[in-house]
Amino acid sequence: QITRQFILEFSDELEEKYTRRLSIITELKKELRENNGELALFYQPKLNLIQNKVLSVEALIRWNNKELGFVSPEDFIAVAEHAGFIGEVTTWVYQQAIRDIISFRDHDIDVMVAINISAQDVMNPELLSMVMALLRVNELPPSVLSFEMTEGHLVKDLGKAVQQLAIMREAGFKIAIDDFGTGYSSLSYLSKLPADILKIDKSFVLKLDQQESDRKIVRTVAKLAHDFNMEIVAEGVENQESLEILRNYGCEYAQGYHICRPIDAAKYIEWHKTFSL
Ligand code: C2E
Ligand code: CA
Ligand code: CA
Ligand code: CA
Repeated sequence: QITRQFILEFSDELEEKYTRRLSIITELKKELRENNGELALFYQPKLNLIQNKVLSVEALIRWNNKELGFVSPEDFIAVAEHAGFIGEVTTWVYQQAIRDIISFRDHDIDVMVAINISAQDVMNPELLSMVMALLRVNELPPSVLSFEMTEGHLVKDLGKAVQQLAIMREAGFKIAIDDFGTGYSSLSYLSKLPADILKIDKSFVLKLDQQESDRKIVRTVAKLAHDFNMEIVAEGVENQESLEILRNYGCEYAQGYHICRPIDAAKYIEWHKTFSL
């Protein structure tokens, strides 16, 4: 039975949710306009398990707002996507990434930076030309950047997505399919999407050392990726046992807290210089 009390509590909850959503939209748009330093780009290395070297890193956005406090990217990225301004977030991200790449290079650190993009970005050809123009101005080759996208975002117009991704690859950017194995994932994407790298979702990796069923999945996905000429990245590697298992399965890259947490560019430079296995 639905009581008056239930309705009141339910609408309170809804109101809270929408108020927060609205604040995220207002505050994030304001920050993107004014650049008050609330946004930051953190970096997490991907360890190449064959060469025992870090050749690439993932850029992960952070947002600390004075009203809302620290907001998880899981939350505000989804809001920006739904509200239709994720492109402005992505623009901030690649501009910051290119500044950081320049400072990495000043420290003789040559890593490829992977940025996360959404379907709206893939469908926007202007984004690609702006990234390329900014690289050109800074005399950087496309190989300094790569793109990770979550396959679920692509479903709406797969044909167009495939076409856009092919153009990005032709331009020299590596493409990774993110979060493979979750949500919307479909095996048919493997043959349809032009991608270089498959990132197996951390939900299959976190307990790799404890769960035989996860090991079966990861082993099979690694084989599948290789059959489609893709390299495989495992994210969520939290201990050495999992890392060794991944190495045995022929996984090319491992990423996770066991290797390094996401850290800011200055800390990353220090970490990279002192890292050894
Ligand atoms: P993702 O792309 O799948 O990123 C991996 C997430 O796993 C990151 O969370 C990372 O901090 C976390 N992680 C890394 N290693 C470990 C580990 O060993 N254990 C555990 N438990 N977690 C680990 P984060 O930074 O909170 O980002 C969450 C999601 O937000 C990302 O998932 C991505 O989908 C999205 N995101 C983050 N930055 C950006 C961005 O700049 N643009 C876009 N469009 N999306 C972003
Ligand atoms: Ca990612
Ligand atoms: Ca992922
Ligand atoms: Ca994710």
